[in-house]
Amino acid sequence: MTGPPGADPHRIDGRAIAATIRTEVATLAQNLRGAGTVSTLIVVLPTDDESAAWYVRSLERAAAQVGVECQVRRPEDPHGATLAALLDELSADPGVHGIVLQTPLPPGVDGPDAGSHIAMPKDVDGANPLSLGRLAAGLPCFAPATAAAVLEILRHEKVPLTGARAVVVGRSTVVGKPVALLLTEADATVTVCHSRTIDLAERCAEADILVAAVGRAHLLTERYIKPGAVAIDVGTNPTADGQLVGDIDPSAAAKAGRYTPVPGGVGAVTTMVLLRNVVTAARLNA
Ligand code: NAP
Repeated sequence: MTGPPGADPHRIDGRAIAATIRTEVATLAQNLRGAGTVSTLIVVLPTDDESAAWYVRSLERAAAQVGVECQVRRPEDPHGATLAALLDELSADPGVHGIVLQTPLPPGVDGPDAGSHIAMPKDVDGANPLSLGRLAAGLPCFAPATAAAVLEILRHEKVPLTGARAVVVGRSTVVGKPVALLLTEADATVTVCHSRTIDLAERCAEADILVAAVGRAHLLTERYIKPGAVAIDVGTNPTADGQLVGDIDPSAAAKAGRYTPVPGGVGAVTTMVLLRNVVTAARLNA
């Protein structure tokens, strides 16, 4: 369990987990620099979305802390062929080690289609559909950083995974599906729920490990939680007063054995997992 003395013992401190990864990544990046390689991430930002801009700024700050070069590129015409052309150009550039295609994508832009223009060795956030296929096949690849962060947190907290009953709410290709694949690979028994699931509360209440990746503020209330379960909240939902809240209601978090808060949970770890992927890509390239 993580957290400062006196803190809620049920609360998993994502920022503390991120700090341990930060130290590891900074050392790896420094060693690579010493050998002549500057780990370089390019974030392609095809949107004016304010929360995307906020996330990219926080990624730039985190990259600077660990010695990863992070540059933002805006395609001239995010709707047209220039987005694909930019991703192709970056994929061919030997000075670029990682490429992130920041969401939300503009209307009419197909995510998997655009992601397929990111070369696999540089696909540090698992946006190329081939990465999801390799993940499903148990082959080496970068899983989407958020999904990998969920497993990072469970492993850091020493949550038993073998044989555990895991329920993932959400089946998107960026979070729900890859989390389910990673949990399956880790020998958990996994149920995936979505908007058409019948008796969602009953399914969730069976879970030793509940992962919420829905995008509906406080959807999962107390009756969705098995007492003592580990609840991982991926949801990030903006409120009218400018706050960010998760998919799991505070009443449910109190019933869980351990839970990740929003903010300060999965998001903090995700950034560091992504930067670790960049350094790994740079090392493999070097
Ligand atoms: P998404 O593509 O919109 O997928 C949402 C999933 O939730 C879908 O599978 C949907 O089911 C399901 N769903 C919607 N309403 C439901 C309901 N009432 N009951 C059960 N299932 C329901 O979203 P996403 O990209 O996976 O993101 C999910 C959340 O994670 C969002 O809040 C997002 O902001 C957050 N997020 C956080 C991070 C991070 O690093 N912390 C990173 C990425 C995303 P259907 O498939 O049937 O439509």
